[in-house]
Amino acid sequence: MSDKIAVYPGSFDPVTNGHIDIIKRSSRIFSKVIVAILNNYEKVPLFTVEERIDLIRKALCTDKGIEITSFDGLLVDFAASVKARIIVRGLREVSDFEYEFQMALMNRRLNESIETVFMMPKAEYSYLSSSVIREIASLNGNIKGLVPENVREALLKTLNQK
Ligand code: ADP
Repeated sequence: MSDKIAVYPGSFDPVTNGHIDIIKRSSRIFSKVIVAILNNYEKVPLFTVEERIDLIRKALCTDKGIEITSFDGLLVDFAASVKARIIVRGLREVSDFEYEFQMALMNRRLNESIETVFMMPKAEYSYLSSSVIREIASLNGNIKGLVPENVREALLKTLNQK
Protein backbone atom coordinates (compact mmCIF):
# COMPACT_ATOMS: atom_id res chain seq x y z
CA MET A 1 0.00 0.00 0.00
CA SER A 2 1.24 3.46 -0.80
CA ASP A 3 0.24 6.66 0.97
CA LYS A 4 0.83 8.52 -2.27
CA ILE A 5 -1.89 6.83 -4.28
CA ALA A 6 -5.44 8.14 -3.96
CA VAL A 7 -8.70 6.89 -5.42
CA TYR A 8 -11.43 9.39 -6.33
CA PRO A 9 -14.61 7.37 -6.84
CA GLY A 10 -17.98 8.43 -8.20
CA SER A 11 -20.51 8.15 -10.98
CA PHE A 12 -19.25 11.12 -13.03
CA ASP A 13 -22.33 11.01 -15.26
CA PRO A 14 -21.05 13.34 -16.60
CA VAL A 15 -17.92 14.88 -15.10
CA THR A 16 -18.43 18.54 -14.08
CA ASN A 17 -16.02 21.38 -13.38
CA GLY A 18 -16.52 20.61 -9.68
CA HIS A 19 -15.13 17.10 -10.19
CA ILE A 20 -12.26 18.44 -12.33
CA ASP A 21 -11.45 20.94 -9.57
CA ILE A 22 -11.22 18.12 -6.99
CA ILE A 23 -9.13 15.92 -9.35
CA LYS A 24 -6.64 18.75 -9.92
CA ARG A 25 -6.42 19.65 -6.24
CA SER A 26 -5.82 15.98 -5.37
CA SER A 27 -3.17 15.55 -8.04
CA ARG A 28 -1.17 18.39 -6.45
CA ILE A 29 -1.07 16.45 -3.18
CA PHE A 30 -0.80 12.80 -4.20
CA SER A 31 1.63 11.27 -6.65
CA LYS A 32 -1.11 9.31 -8.35
CA VAL A 33 -4.88 9.92 -8.45
CA ILE A 34 -7.05 7.14 -9.78
CA VAL A 35 -10.44 8.45 -10.88
CA ALA A 36 -12.66 5.39 -10.49
CA ILE A 37 -16.08 5.24 -12.12
CA LEU A 38 -18.52 3.04 -10.30
CA ASN A 39 -20.16 0.52 -12.58
CA ASN A 40 -23.60 0.76 -11.04
CA TYR A 41 -25.79 -1.81 -12.76
CA GLU A 42 -28.90 -0.64 -10.92
CA LYS A 43 -29.00 2.81 -12.45
CA VAL A 44 -29.50 3.63 -16.12
CA PRO A 45 -26.80 6.19 -16.85
CA LEU A 46 -26.86 8.90 -19.50
CA PHE A 47 -23.31 8.04 -20.64
CA THR A 48 -21.78 4.57 -20.68
CA VAL A 49 -18.73 3.92 -18.49
CA GLU A 50 -16.49 4.00 -21.58
CA GLU A 51 -17.96 7.34 -22.66
CA ARG A 52 -17.49 8.77 -19.15
CA ILE A 53 -13.86 7.64 -19.07
CA ASP A 54 -13.29 9.21 -22.46
CA LEU A 55 -14.96 12.50 -21.43
CA ILE A 56 -12.78 12.79 -18.32
CA ARG A 57 -9.63 11.90 -20.23
CA LYS A 58 -10.29 14.54 -22.91
CA ALA A 59 -11.24 17.17 -20.31
CA LEU A 60 -7.98 16.68 -18.43
CA CYS A 61 -5.81 16.64 -21.60
CA THR A 62 -2.23 16.28 -20.48
CA ASP A 63 -2.47 15.95 -16.72
CA LYS A 64 0.17 13.57 -15.49
CA GLY A 65 -0.28 11.29 -12.50
CA ILE A 66 -4.00 10.86 -13.15
CA GLU A 67 -5.50 7.54 -14.18
CA ILE A 68 -9.12 6.95 -15.15
CA THR A 69 -10.73 3.57 -14.77
CA SER A 70 -13.92 1.83 -13.66
CA PHE A 71 -14.70 -0.60 -10.88
CA ASP A 72 -17.49 -2.67 -9.43
CA GLY A 73 -17.83 -4.26 -6.02
CA LEU A 74 -16.66 -2.69 -2.78
CA LEU A 75 -14.70 0.55 -3.02
CA VAL A 76 -12.25 -0.49 -0.28
CA ASP A 77 -11.50 -3.72 -2.18
CA PHE A 78 -10.87 -1.77 -5.35
CA ALA A 79 -8.61 0.68 -3.46
CA ALA A 80 -6.62 -2.20 -1.95
CA SER A 81 -6.29 -3.84 -5.37
CA VAL A 82 -4.57 -0.72 -6.75
CA LYS A 83 -2.50 -0.29 -3.55
CA ALA A 84 -4.24 2.95 -2.59
CA ARG A 85 -4.64 3.92 1.07
CA ILE A 86 -6.59 7.11 0.42
CA ILE A 87 -10.11 7.73 -0.79
CA VAL A 88 -10.81 11.30 -1.89
CA ARG A 89 -14.33 12.68 -1.74
CA GLY A 90 -15.61 16.14 -2.53
CA LEU A 91 -17.69 18.09 -0.03
CA ARG A 92 -19.94 20.71 -1.50
CA GLU A 93 -22.43 21.68 1.16
CA VAL A 94 -23.41 20.60 4.65
CA SER A 95 -26.00 18.39 2.96
CA ASP A 96 -23.19 16.16 1.60
CA PHE A 97 -21.82 15.64 5.08
CA GLU A 98 -24.24 13.12 6.52
CA TYR A 99 -23.93 10.63 3.67
CA GLU A 100 -20.16 11.09 3.35
CA PHE A 101 -19.67 10.69 7.11
CA GLN A 102 -21.59 7.41 7.07
CA MET A 103 -19.68 6.08 4.05
CA ALA A 104 -16.28 7.10 5.45
CA LEU A 105 -16.91 5.34 8.75
CA MET A 106 -18.34 2.25 7.07
CA ASN A 107 -15.36 2.06 4.73
CA ARG A 108 -13.04 2.40 7.72
CA ARG A 109 -14.82 -0.49 9.39
CA LEU A 110 -14.41 -2.55 6.23
CA ASN A 111 -10.72 -1.70 5.90
CA GLU A 112 -8.93 0.09 8.76
CA SER A 113 -5.87 0.90 6.67
CA ILE A 114 -7.72 3.06 4.17
CA GLU A 115 -8.35 6.71 5.06
CA THR A 116 -10.99 8.98 3.50
CA VAL A 117 -10.03 12.61 2.92
CA PHE A 118 -12.40 15.40 1.96
CA MET A 119 -11.78 18.35 -0.28
CA MET A 120 -13.82 21.45 -0.94
CA PRO A 121 -14.14 22.70 -4.52
CA LYS A 122 -14.02 26.33 -5.56
CA ALA A 123 -17.12 28.02 -4.10
CA GLU A 124 -18.58 28.67 -7.55
CA TYR A 125 -18.80 24.90 -8.15
CA SER A 126 -20.30 24.04 -4.79
CA TYR A 127 -23.89 23.96 -6.09
CA LEU A 128 -23.00 21.77 -9.08
CA SER A 129 -23.97 18.15 -9.46
CA SER A 130 -24.12 15.81 -12.44
CA SER A 131 -27.88 15.41 -12.01
CA VAL A 132 -28.48 19.19 -12.08
CA ILE A 133 -26.31 19.42 -15.19
CA ARG A 134 -28.26 16.62 -16.91
CA GLU A 135 -31.53 18.33 -16.04
CA ILE A 136 -30.52 21.83 -17.16
CA ALA A 137 -28.97 20.48 -20.37
CA SER A 138 -32.08 18.45 -21.19
CA LEU A 139 -34.16 21.64 -20.83
CA ASN A 140 -31.76 23.53 -23.12
CA GLY A 141 -30.36 25.66 -20.30
CA ASN A 142 -26.92 27.24 -20.53
CA ILE A 143 -24.26 25.05 -18.89
CA LYS A 144 -21.24 26.92 -20.26
CA GLY A 145 -18.51 27.21 -17.64
CA LEU A 146 -20.03 24.50 -15.46
CA VAL A 147 -18.70 21.50 -17.37
CA PRO A 148 -15.66 21.07 -19.63
CA GLU A 149 -16.39 22.11 -23.24
CA ASN A 150 -16.12 18.53 -24.57
CA VAL A 151 -18.72 17.44 -21.99
CA ARG A 152 -21.07 20.25 -23.04
CA GLU A 153 -20.78 19.14 -26.67
CA ALA A 154 -21.35 15.48 -25.75
CA LEU A 155 -24.44 16.42 -23.71
CA LEU A 156 -25.94 18.41 -26.59
CA LYS A 157 -25.29 15.52 -28.98
CA THR A 158 -26.58 12.77 -26.70
CA LEU A 159 -29.67 14.66 -25.56
CA ASN A 160 -30.58 15.61 -29.14
CA GLN A 161 -30.51 11.95 -30.11
CA LYS A 162 -32.92 10.98 -27.36
P1 ADP B 1 -22.20 10.36 -6.28
O1 ADP B 1 -21.43 9.74 -5.16
O2 ADP B 1 -23.43 11.07 -5.82
O3 ADP B 1 -22.40 9.50 -7.48
P2 ADP B 1 -20.61 11.94 -8.03
O4 ADP B 1 -20.28 10.79 -8.82
O5 ADP B 1 -21.36 13.06 -8.71
O6 ADP B 1 -21.32 11.57 -6.70
O7 ADP B 1 -19.31 12.58 -7.41
C1 ADP B 1 -18.27 11.87 -6.83
C2 ADP B 1 -17.65 12.70 -5.75
O8 ADP B 1 -17.45 14.02 -6.19
C3 ADP B 1 -18.47 12.81 -4.47
O9 ADP B 1 -17.58 12.86 -3.39
C4 ADP B 1 -19.17 14.12 -4.62
O10 ADP B 1 -19.46 14.69 -3.35
C5 ADP B 1 -18.11 14.90 -5.31
N1 ADP B 1 -18.66 15.99 -6.10
C6 ADP B 1 -19.72 15.97 -6.95
N2 ADP B 1 -19.94 17.19 -7.49
C7 ADP B 1 -18.99 18.00 -6.94
C8 ADP B 1 -18.73 19.39 -7.05
N3 ADP B 1 -19.46 20.20 -7.80
N4 ADP B 1 -17.69 19.87 -6.33
C9 ADP B 1 -16.96 19.06 -5.54
N5 ADP B 1 -17.18 17.76 -5.36
C10 ADP B 1 -18.19 17.23 -6.06
